[in-house]
Amino acid sequence: AAASDDMLASQAPQPIQPTPSVAIIGGGIGGAFAAWWLRNASPAVRIDVYERSSAVGGRTLDTGEGDASVELGASMAIVQNRYVAEAATALGLSRQLRSEARGRGGGRLGIVGANGRIVFEEAPSGVQTAWRLLSRYGLRPLHRLRRRGSEFISNFSRLYEAQAAGRAFREADDLLAAAGLEAWPRMTCAAAMAEAGVGGEGEGRLVEELVAGLMHNNYGQAWAPSGALCCFTAVAPLAAGGSSAAFSVVGGNGALARGLLAASNATVRTSHSVRAVREGEGGRLTLSYTGAGEEGAATYDHVIYSAPCAAAPDGGGLLQRCSLLEYQRLHVTLVWGLLDPRSGRRTHGRIRPVSRCGRQVPSKFRLDSPSIPTDSPRFPARLLDPAFFRARADGEADDGASTEEEALAFNAAFSDLLTAADADVPFLSIGRFGEAAPPGPSRSPGACDRLYATSPTPRWKLFSRDALSEERLAPLFLCHDDALTRRHVWDAPGAYPASRPRRGVAHVTTPSFIGECIDS
Ligand SMILES: Cc1cc2nc3c(=O)[nH]c(=O)nc-3n(C[C@H](O)[C@H](O)[C@H](O)COP(=O)(O)OP(=O)(O)OC[C@H]3O[C@@H](n4cnc5c(N)ncnc54)[C@H](O)[C@@H]3O)c2cc1C
Repeated sequence: AAASDDMLASQAPQPIQPTPSVAIIGGGIGGAFAAWWLRNASPAVRIDVYERSSAVGGRTLDTGEGDASVELGASMAIVQNRYVAEAATALGLSRQLRSEARGRGGGRLGIVGANGRIVFEEAPSGVQTAWRLLSRYGLRPLHRLRRRGSEFISNFSRLYEAQAAGRAFREADDLLAAAGLEAWPRMTCAAAMAEAGVGGEGEGRLVEELVAGLMHNNYGQAWAPSGALCCFTAVAPLAAGGSSAAFSVVGGNGALARGLLAASNATVRTSHSVRAVREGEGGRLTLSYTGAGEEGAATYDHVIYSAPCAAAPDGGGLLQRCSLLEYQRLHVTLVWGLLDPRSGRRTHGRIRPVSRCGRQVPSKFRLDSPSIPTDSPRFPARLLDPAFFRARADGEADDGASTEEEALAFNAAFSDLLTAADADVPFLSIGRFGEAAPPGPSRSPGACDRLYATSPTPRWKLFSRDALSEERLAPLFLCHDDALTRRHVWDAPGAYPASRPRRGVAHVTTPSFIGECIDS
């Protein structure tokens, strides 16, 4: 009888539990991780992701050219970034170290200072580089910078343990407090450096050259007034071990967001822009959106914002403390060509037609001077240090013209050029991203034709504060194909230093966002 009673009880209609539903606004890496973790925590929850653009990934954007693809936004994570590493492994994505991704022939890092001079140059061996660093910047400040950078990484790593133990944080401030970084959002980079004991009397070079260079390369910001979190985010890869401690996802970092969203079994609505979120009956939230040219609305139990504050729909109503920063645009320019080691010279005359070994340089290299004023501070007479080449020219006098050989040597020697605080060049940083045959023959008659035909041509990524028009690019390159140049501008209007969500609404963001890094 007891058994049949049990059977009857199990056959009795159970009250239907509605499936909880969550809308995520923004399909960048933040929204994708939110969807993935949510799915892991709750297999039954319904997850809808609204993404304004036609593709997910947000600021992990690449050029989408398969093997030749170049990151336009986030390019690397440090090896200590456990979540990114674990997610890549779980999704079966391969990772490669930045040192491996530098393209054939490796290449060194240089820092460009005033008058386009290279003030620091990595050496072929680690020991030599260490010696050069010590000679230029001094043991004590270097040691302190690295120690503080390592502590910064350890501070953030505490969060892995806290979160693994089930700890959650209501606000970004709470999270930073758990990491021991509560004072940092209100501290400038200059103050953080002073606190770390770096940049005192006679130690300015380290911050003016190395820290400024890393900041320029990361977010294009000036080092001193920037937020401390932002500045140590830039220093972290150095403290972690340089290019052999930073990795990217093979096939593009955007594959992470795509993979996480697919694995979370979320319904992804690309080209859907959320316009407003309103609180309705029973504490549910109604989200209005525009998608496929139509207005729509849907109701959810919870909403997760994973979009920059100023882009947040109805941000003023649901999110407090959404302060706006004046946004510094960051331009990305991809150029297939040969950097000209004495590019400023071209503003004075023609490229020398005969190369060092007496070979005739094809007439296409006999370029006429572009009509750029030679006294412009943006185009100094010498872009890069001629001493670098004199040392390699077997004592030959510097006659002021770049040869093809010099340019090839220079382009092979350097993989990254950072800029010091006083650099007066039109770029913030330049990085080499592989050498490949360009897609098809040159479409600009005469530009690099012979090089394209005979050897793989380097592809350079330039970050700059201003747009690099063809007129501005021309003096930097011995030859390049302007038809293959690609441009992208990162332009977001605001920053969101801390969140104070109302019931049912959460905000997912990245440390650089809280740190008021310019890319926010
Ligand atoms: C040039 C550059 C270099 C960088 N380098 C690095 C690096 O090397 N390492 C690193 O860790 N970080 C780097 N970053 C920072 C990193 O890219 C960001 O911190 C991170 O990608 C932010 O992710 P997110 O998901 O929070 O925001 P986002 O990537 O901005 O995603 C937000 C998404 O929300 C969408 N959206 C906005 N409004 C709406 C709306 N109303 N409705 C629907 N969708 C909406 C947007 O289209 C976007 O896809 C870099 C950033 C830039 C710009």
